Amino acid sequence: MKKVLIANRGEIALRIMRCCRDMGIGTVAVYSTADRELKHVRLADEAVCIGPPSSTDSYLNVPALISAAEITDADAIHPGYGFLSENADFAERVESSGFIFIGPSPRVIRLMGDKVSAINEMREAGVPTVPGSDGPLGEDPVVNLQMANKIGYPIIIKAAGGGGGRGMRVVRGDSELIDSIQLTKTEAGAAFNNDVVYMEKFLETPRHVEFQVLADSHGDAIHLGERDCSMQRRHQKVVEEAPAPGITPEQRAEVGARCVDACKRLGYRGAGTFEFLYENGGFYFIEMNTRVQVEHPVTEMITGVDIVKEQLRIAMGNPLSYKQSDIRIKGHAFECRINAEDPDTFMPSPGLIEQFHPPGGLGVRVDSHIYNGYRVPPYYDSMIGKLIVHGNTRESATARMRGALSEAFITGIKTNIPLLASIMDDENFAAGGTDIHYLEKKLGIA
Ligand code: ADP
Repeated sequence: MKKVLIANRGEIALRIMRCCRDMGIGTVAVYSTADRELKHVRLADEAVCIGPPSSTDSYLNVPALISAAEITDADAIHPGYGFLSENADFAERVESSGFIFIGPSPRVIRLMGDKVSAINEMREAGVPTVPGSDGPLGEDPVVNLQMANKIGYPIIIKAAGGGGGRGMRVVRGDSELIDSIQLTKTEAGAAFNNDVVYMEKFLETPRHVEFQVLADSHGDAIHLGERDCSMQRRHQKVVEEAPAPGITPEQRAEVGARCVDACKRLGYRGAGTFEFLYENGGFYFIEMNTRVQVEHPVTEMITGVDIVKEQLRIAMGNPLSYKQSDIRIKGHAFECRINAEDPDTFMPSPGLIEQFHPPGGLGVRVDSHIYNGYRVPPYYDSMIGKLIVHGNTRESATARMRGALSEAFITGIKTNIPLLASIMDDENFAAGGTDIHYLEKKLGIA
């Protein structure tokens, strides 16, 4: 693999470009007409414009991406996260056009992209799942009522093809059940072109704990422990950390081993994440992400493993660089997602960055594409960077994040830094283990 086309933008495109450069691999950036000034576009070996600002016509434009790979003679395509990263049809097109797709096979992406088939696969691999319908709901109201009562209210109706926190409805009693199933089905059909829905026990106060895995094309797999991403607003992660507070080494080894088994059974390849809800000491699988995640750096900081480098090595057909026994967790890491948005109203705040002074020092990492004079376009996600810190203990990492946030200086646009700072000062956050509703309650919106 001599040249990689990066089918993404922003901080993750820069992250992938830096990794390729470390490994002596050439890079092709692709960009929309709104993204000519992106940092990685200027730094990549080659850059190709793939369309107008709208993502549908650029970063989601499959023919334009394939043509860009052809004209630059790239060997492989890295999809990053979001956009086409979990699109099995895209992965298939990449492979059938003769390029390496840096990710799992289209078959596995498709299997994990459907939540019903993903849950079934996990259950067979011995991964703990949420008690539920064990498959699609049928049309018979009597059967559905019986099932809901057997699981016990509250339950949640979820779309098999859902994503991004959409296509879900909580039901608290018999009187709402039948209408809710019908409504979720209709909405799912319209939104995801798939009206299959299923039923799960609704957990009231869970935490979000996820396991990072790496698997090679020779049937080997390892896990890199877990992350806690419970600090969320509208299902969007705001702060992430690793390891997850209160998870014992025994729990980590047990759940991690189940995830590794699942990878081996699936024939999984590349980096992946098993997402769980964690409540009262139990883990409940909800879905798998078949790509690199925004929050991967916290795992890198505590394990020393370069996850993107492993993705590239695996795509080249190399065996994993590590055995499970090589993986040691050291210290604690946090990531704060910095968004161009109003810290009180959460309205996006695109525009010209007049001044940017990034924080620095021992244990501080800034993954960001912004610079003085960069104009944040209004067309894409509002995340403009990630601030990641590492410390020997959770306390020292928190102190380091407080300091780093106080150093981060951005003028010209509004950012959520004040919100992130208030989380670092929160006493319940300091205690660790707050649930997924905590931030919204703190903000007075739940
Ligand atoms: P998506 O693909 O849309 O992100 P997920 O299945 O990951 O869907 O669920 C998104 C979020 O919805 C979870 O992080 C959690 O907050 C909530 N959720 C999903 N299933 C349950 C459940 N069984 N009990 C409680 N909350 C749930």
